[in-house]
Amino acid sequence: MESIQAIPYPLLVGAVFCFGLAIGSFANVCIHRLPRKESVAFPGSHCPGCSSAVRPLDNIPVISYIILGGKCRDCATRISLIYPAIELITALLMLAGFFKFGPTFDFLVYAVVAPTLVIITAIDIEHQIIPDVITLPGIVLGLAVGTYTIGYADSLLGLFLGGGLFYLLAVLSNGGMGGGDIKYIAAAGALLGWQKVLLVIFIGAFLGSIVGLFQIAVQKKSRKSLIPFGPFLAAGTLITIFHGNLLIRLYLGYLGR
Ligand SMILES: [Zn+2]
Repeated sequence: MESIQAIPYPLLVGAVFCFGLAIGSFANVCIHRLPRKESVAFPGSHCPGCSSAVRPLDNIPVISYIILGGKCRDCATRISLIYPAIELITALLMLAGFFKFGPTFDFLVYAVVAPTLVIITAIDIEHQIIPDVITLPGIVLGLAVGTYTIGYADSLLGLFLGGGLFYLLAVLSNGGMGGGDIKYIAAAGALLGWQKVLLVIFIGAFLGSIVGLFQIAVQKKSRKSLIPFGPFLAAGTLITIFHGNLLIRLYLGYLGR
């Protein structure tokens, strides 16, 4: 760690931000291609309008979008604002994680998890799925990291408690809970342990019902057109990663333990 401490702090923060933008750019590729079962490596980025390849200099996160005025250089097709937004959100999340964890192993894990949460949120909103290609490796990674950070017993307990609860909900609700949600929460449980996976579920359900009620009451949406559960689980996971220890302490204190 000494070599990292030798780098001036502002430079390190800038590097994390730029790294976050680059990861956000890759997140866009994943969001677009994973649900279509396309490779995230080949071919390179191309315009959704005219299919011409994006030049390397036109592929700089956020900056290229601003320079090109949100249009393809070749055919002037409008490029959605969602792309630079995803890049910016990912970079800001990376910064927040770096401020929270510093140059530690926890940050390394976070640097994988946070962009994955962005990808899951975007894919679930657009396609109402959380792809296996994310959740299954997530379970393996969750177990490996969880075993190292919280011990294999807590990690396994989190996996089966989270996955089991959601499986039960899926059976009881007759399909109201998707298989993707079950695998997602199993992965989160393996990574965070049994206490924190309960917190993720609680926060996710809390946020989901507030937004859901708003959509039904104010926006007059039908239950079918509501935002799926994945984004709320992702938000719950993020809040738990940042403030889980504090929230659990507060809750136990509230119980007088
Ligand atoms: Zn084009």
